[in-house]
Amino acid sequence: GSDAVALETRAHRDGSHFVLDGRKRWIGNGSIADVLLVWARGEDGEVGGYLVEAGTPGMSVARMTGKTALRAVWQTEIELEGVRVPAEARLEHCHSFRDVARVLARTRYTVAWRALGLALGAYEAALAYALEREQFGRPIAAYQLVQDKLSKMLADITGMQLLNLRLSQLVQDDRLTAGMASMAKMTCAAKARGIVADARDILGGNGILLENHVARHHADMEAIFTFEGTDSIQSLIVGREITGIQAIAPSRSG
Ligand SMILES: Cc1cc2nc3c(=O)[nH]c(=O)nc-3n(C[C@H](O)[C@H](O)[C@H](O)COP(=O)(O)OP(=O)(O)OC[C@H]3O[C@@H](n4cnc5c(N)ncnc54)[C@H](O)[C@@H]3O)c2cc1C
Repeated sequence: GSDAVALETRAHRDGSHFVLDGRKRWIGNGSIADVLLVWARGEDGEVGGYLVEAGTPGMSVARMTGKTALRAVWQTEIELEGVRVPAEARLEHCHSFRDVARVLARTRYTVAWRALGLALGAYEAALAYALEREQFGRPIAAYQLVQDKLSKMLADITGMQLLNLRLSQLVQDDRLTAGMASMAKMTCAAKARGIVADARDILGGNGILLENHVARHHADMEAIFTFEGTDSIQSLIVGREITGIQAIAPSRSG
């Protein structure tokens, strides 16, 4: 959930092994992965990363069904009951949640690009459709209100492209901060969500048919808006970096 810092999966040392106990939900492609990276809290209270091979006794993986979005990815629920992994399966350079957060910043940054991709795909489909579809004797692209939608979609897409390009340069220079990644994810997901909704509108009834792709982008955007941290959580991470004051969990420090 949003309070990822409070993760409850546990790891304790038993001789030459670590033993993992806990549950995970929403884990992408967990049922087809050969190796899973499990974040768990050790006996010292700090979070570490543990590599678990598929089929390790004590680990059960169940595919979640009934998803309306990102149907090409299989989300899974994972139960770990006394799962034993060799001591060397613990990631060497992960000492606390701060190290996990560095991974999250990197993956959030890729989600910003992903949102841009969906927005661009939806815009291109809407433009092609608007030029083709005729109503009241003219292509709908000839109407000012439709052109206004297309113009604003392209303006937002261009802004997202520039933001993400700059972010990639900062990643290359190893200057990416958590706040920068969150700002990009928050901005791109929100803007892309609006763009796919406008594209779906421009396609009229055809916009809800899967064969026209925009409906799929529209559904997938809902998942992207939430995963890797919701819009509100990204905003709070940016706010923390701007002000130096942590407002995500007011009772905690840092
Ligand atoms: C398609 C999909 C794929 C996913 N893949 C993975 C994966 O591979 N691995 C993985 O570990 N997780 C994965 N997740 C989980 C994902 O990261 C969480 O769903 C997400 O972080 C939100 O947590 P939650 O669903 O429990 O919502 P909640 O945390 O319950 O949030 C519900 C609402 O409360 C708001 N909220 C919560 N706390 C605050 C606060 N302090 N201030 C203001 N508002 C707040 C949220 O913004 C949101 O609007 C996936 C989720 C989805 C939908």
